[in-house]
Amino acid sequence: MSKTDKQGLTTTIVHRDRRAGMEHGALRAPLHSSVQYGLESVEDLIGIFQGSKKGGFNYARQGTPTTAMLEAKINEIEGGVGTVCFATGMGAIAAIFLTLLKAGDHIVSSRHVFGNTNSLLGTLRQFGVEVSMVDMASADSVAAVLTPATRMVFVETIANPGTQIADLQGIGSLCRAHGLVYVVDNTITSPALFNPASVGASLVVNSLTKTISGHGAALGGAVTDTGLFDWAGYPNIADEYRKVAVAQQGLTQIRKKGLRDMGASLSSEHANQISIGMETLALRVKHSSASAQRLAEYLAAHPAVRKVCYPGLASHPQHQRASKLFRANAWLLSFELRAAEQTNAFLNALQLPIKATGLGDTRTLVIPVAATIFWEAGPEKRKEMDIPDGMVRVSVGLEEVEDLIADFARALDTLA
Ligand SMILES: *Cc1c(COP(=O)(O)O)cnc(C)c1O
Repeated sequence: MSKTDKQGLTTTIVHRDRRAGMEHGALRAPLHSSVQYGLESVEDLIGIFQGSKKGGFNYARQGTPTTAMLEAKINEIEGGVGTVCFATGMGAIAAIFLTLLKAGDHIVSSRHVFGNTNSLLGTLRQFGVEVSMVDMASADSVAAVLTPATRMVFVETIANPGTQIADLQGIGSLCRAHGLVYVVDNTITSPALFNPASVGASLVVNSLTKTISGHGAALGGAVTDTGLFDWAGYPNIADEYRKVAVAQQGLTQIRKKGLRDMGASLSSEHANQISIGMETLALRVKHSSASAQRLAEYLAAHPAVRKVCYPGLASHPQHQRASKLFRANAWLLSFELRAAEQTNAFLNALQLPIKATGLGDTRTLVIPVAATIFWEAGPEKRKEMDIPDGMVRVSVGLEEVEDLIADFARALDTLA
């Protein structure tokens, strides 16, 4: 069976395995748990190491048939020229930074980023990389900090947890004009709602742990090269990786150094679980995005709620931008109670949402972010990142929205 252009995301995903050929008629590609892969001849073995033999496997730290199948699927739904999977989303982000930047380089990041990404940028500083963190609501603030040493710009599609939406299109044009690697973390939107290639992204990050698998039973991350960046002009590609086609140079370096040398490799077992979860990605995201819209509207209208951040609300500063860019506004919202001191009691009164970190699960998860994920950052950094003390993050799951709203209503009633 071959693929026709313009098939939908779910059609593409659920038929991708058998398009690659079926072992024993299996509709899902079998799980290959072997670490070592033997070759027919010693010349083939040598060819794997010297790069003349394409497509083979040798040691699972650099990939297996099962991780390769997942990479092919993610690559197809992101519209890339290549994808590399990692053990976690952070593994994917760390591999980009550590394999493409060197001491003396400058990176510009949105200051509205995932807490662990923020912490990792601090580590980069220790290795002599200069980091600027700016509000990316306008591309002008990125333009204002560029230096001759700037190599890379990093941004999230819908920022976690404040839901700010950067000027993704404007920053894309700026990066193209200045020859900068434009890295877009697509975790919150996922390929179901957005393809960063459409705004000129060079590299796309997806945490596979979140909505792509959906079940919260496996960790994983992916880096997709959109093919839009010209690696021929990038100064930090090692001579060894200049030997492959220009379009593959960036990703080859990320795979070799990120997986082979640094070792944050995805296991076949987790790749298989992520592949299974991914089959329902579009259906789940459609459902939970519609529920998030209803819940956000409910909370925004409630007198005990001070503020709700959700791109689907007309009050959101980038509401228009979100409707233009994304196929829906996703399943992440945050809010603050008027009585911030009652936040913990309120969260304890909720029965359905689970008090847990994590995102994009089948179950609704709630967490007070300042006291948890952003605690280590400290009050000053939290202020800089627009994380108020009373902010609660909600990752809306697959429960019927009526049940969720009833539970929030009941818990709000318990407030004095
Ligand atoms: C969770 C998350 C990550 C990291 O993913 P892990 O798989 O948990 O390592 C990166 N970026 C964003 C936006 C996230 O929400």
